[in-house]
Amino acid sequence: MRVDLKGLNQEETEVWVRDLGLEAYRARQIRQWLFKGLVHAFEEMSNLPKDLRTRLKEKAYVNPLEHVKTEESGDGTKKFLFRLLDGPFIETVLIPEMGHFTLCISSQAGCAMGCLFCLTGRQRLKRNLLPSEIIEQVIQVRRSMPDPDRMTNIVFMGMGEPLANYDATIRAVDNLTSEDGMNFSHRKVTLSTCGLAPEMARLGKDVTVNLAVSLNAADDETRSFLMPINRKYPLKLLLEACRAFPLPNRRMITFEYVMIEGVNDRDEDALKLAGLLSGLRAKINLIPLNPHPALDMSPPSRERVLRFQEILISHHFTAIIRKSKGLDISAACGQLSGLFGGALGK
Ligand code: SAH
Ligand code: SF4
Repeated sequence: MRVDLKGLNQEETEVWVRDLGLEAYRARQIRQWLFKGLVHAFEEMSNLPKDLRTRLKEKAYVNPLEHVKTEESGDGTKKFLFRLLDGPFIETVLIPEMGHFTLCISSQAGCAMGCLFCLTGRQRLKRNLLPSEIIEQVIQVRRSMPDPDRMTNIVFMGMGEPLANYDATIRAVDNLTSEDGMNFSHRKVTLSTCGLAPEMARLGKDVTVNLAVSLNAADDETRSFLMPINRKYPLKLLLEACRAFPLPNRRMITFEYVMIEGVNDRDEDALKLAGLLSGLRAKINLIPLNPHPALDMSPPSRERVLRFQEILISHHFTAIIRKSKGLDISAACGQLSGLFGGALGK
């Protein structure tokens, strides 16, 4: 079995290199090529002797994803389709923002959580991604950019539930943020969860990243209807985990709230939400449901969304209405299916 090098951390790479009878500095060189040089193959590691490159190629691999195609939206958002080596497809979305780019990455092929409004959830779980498959999305998209350094932010908001693939997610975060890895700022990496309370407690101890919680409802009945995971970790438990989550100075937890007409969009829901989050360092992202023919739900009217926001603001919350990007190519939140062209349900 060849070793999957992008999934190893610095120490593990050193051990591997030493086991091959090489000096430790080779580990640093190789990691430089992988995470800063963004290489696809050992042949590209030009400061390694040629016979060493050939030897390494027999012992390890560095490219765990096949790029299948890219679609570009009218607003500049790009959706990348990748194939895992054993067949399943995943999607990654590059989003242009003011002066920089955010990359939305997948942590699983499909998702087992089955949220009613989410196309990834309709797909069920195909499998967990390996750490290298999570990181490789970042590497391949950076390779495609004229100025890769403009990609400053990473969000785990693509396909899958990152905390249901805990170990791989933590490893990926390590290589994304460590200085000898890709060196992204901890402040610019955000992990979004549907609310796996026990893993949230572990996460706070294991790494420093921004936390986003997909709340989507302010009472248990509505939340359990939309998100089956709420039956296991109801709001009380989830909010306790949020309150216990260690937040560095002035940081906040982001609460995502997908707004669905007639389900969770009344004034009363906004008031409940304000009550639920009171005392928490919280910022609220309102996401009008991104529609899809496979979903029998709609987003509320613009007026309804604005009114909902107004109520939250009057209770002193930061509440932002998130603009959907990439709608025309099914690249927006909840529209990733791994089936390019959004073939699900059509
Ligand atoms: N599994 C994680 C991260 C991926 S989902 C989580 O649930 O947080 C990323 C975000 O997309 C979540 O906030 C989810 O609520 C939102 N989402 C899912 N389907 C959507 C849809 N149809 N329209 C708008 N947002 C959606
Ligand atoms: Fe999974 Fe998140 Fe979609 Fe729910 S919203 S099904 S947790 S990807």
